[in-house]
Amino acid sequence: SNEMRIAVGALEIADKIVENVMTKLPDVFMLPDTTVLNAKTVMEIVKMGYTRIPVYTNGDKNNVTDLLFVKDLALLDPDDNFTVKTVCGYHKHPVKFVMNDTPLPHLLEAFKKGEGHLAMVKKLISNDDKDPSYELVGVVTLEDIVEEILQAEIFDE
Ligand code: ADP
Repeated sequence: SNEMRIAVGALEIADKIVENVMTKLPDVFMLPDTTVLNAKTVMEIVKMGYTRIPVYTNGDKNNVTDLLFVKDLALLDPDDNFTVKTVCGYHKHPVKFVMNDTPLPHLLEAFKKGEGHLAMVKKLISNDDKDPSYELVGVVTLEDIVEEILQAEIFDE
């Protein structure tokens, strides 16, 4: 039954971590904060079909500082040629970060408590000679967890 599948799926996420369900960084649609929001770029952004877009600073995709919500573009006049940085500075949607090895039940709890349902995923990079550093490896949303719960399969004997 569907109820059984959902119950089994919910139990199964206990063994899974963020890295197992995230969208990997090369597949993430992001924008530099310098992007000018003219008619052409707004059209391209809307066409991508995402609700939220990570925004990076200093040309460094590892340096995500904001989230652009596509709905923030609705009242924008494309002739004003505002940059992504200006629009983000106005709305200030907070960016959440999680570690790649966070268990999915923890992230689910965090999403249930907070307002935002998207988090940037970071990974600890250990260097022998240098201090350890972080690298962004993807994004994860509530949708990714729900998807994982619903895809459980039950094999009857
Ligand atoms: P949306 O409302 O934008 O479709 P969802 O939260 O429903 O976002 O997530 C749907 C899928 O899209 C998930 O797999 C999520 O990881 C991925 N996703 C969300 N935002 C982006 C983005 N900016 N670039 C690439 N993938 C994204």
